Amino acid sequence: MSVPIDRGYLVRTLTDLVRINSINPTLVPGGAGEAEIGEYVASALARAGLDVRKIEPEPGRPSVVGVGEIGLNNNTPNEMVGLEMQLDLAMDLKLPALIHTPHVDKRRGVEMIKGLIEKRTDYNRAHILIDHITEETIEIVRDMGVWVAMTVYPFSKLSPERAVAMVAKYGLDRIMVNSSVDWGESDPLSIPKVVRLMRREGWKERDIERLVWRNPVRFWGQSGRIAETDVVE
Ligand SMILES: [Zn+2]
Repeated sequence: MSVPIDRGYLVRTLTDLVRINSINPTLVPGGAGEAEIGEYVASALARAGLDVRKIEPEPGRPSVVGVGEIGLNNNTPNEMVGLEMQLDLAMDLKLPALIHTPHVDKRRGVEMIKGLIEKRTDYNRAHILIDHITEETIEIVRDMGVWVAMTVYPFSKLSPERAVAMVAKYGLDRIMVNSSVDWGESDPLSIPKVVRLMRREGWKERDIERLVWRNPVRFWGQSGRIAETDVVE
């Protein structure tokens, strides 16, 4: 795989990193430490859309951690390169991977992800979960052997009614619902609301439990780090 590189960005960033004084004060008395370079890295990561945390075990000597989902958000070639490398890593480590799909131009993003997974016949599709699937995108990925997740929101996006209607239409195999706490208004009780709606609609308890419990445990359990018996009394 070849990696396209934004040379201008790379050179600018490396120049800045060299220019900023970050001399370790325990090695050179009076060294500036990592405060300024930490600030620089934190803002670069934030601009890239990552959730940035600063850890400062010693005053003036911060470490910076950038946490982000894997997947596409702007459907750019660079995101595709990152996604493929991250999926390579997950597959090498035999770990399940959840792939974020964009909020804007979702259909195109899901088609790009599908293209990648179809090209990479070595990927274990049972280890891949495509997130934030809606009516618009489910048919693109439903027959691929991957898992799909529907993120249920209180107002916009996918309501409990729409998520349950999709389960009724597409079945309970390799599907789950999740909730989210993110940019817009979110509801951590989305899943109990899905359960309440399914009970009202007369779904079997066994099927409800499969959607909101056994399926997620089965998918994430492929990591070898979680088993239904670990979490059920
Ligand atoms: Zn996401």
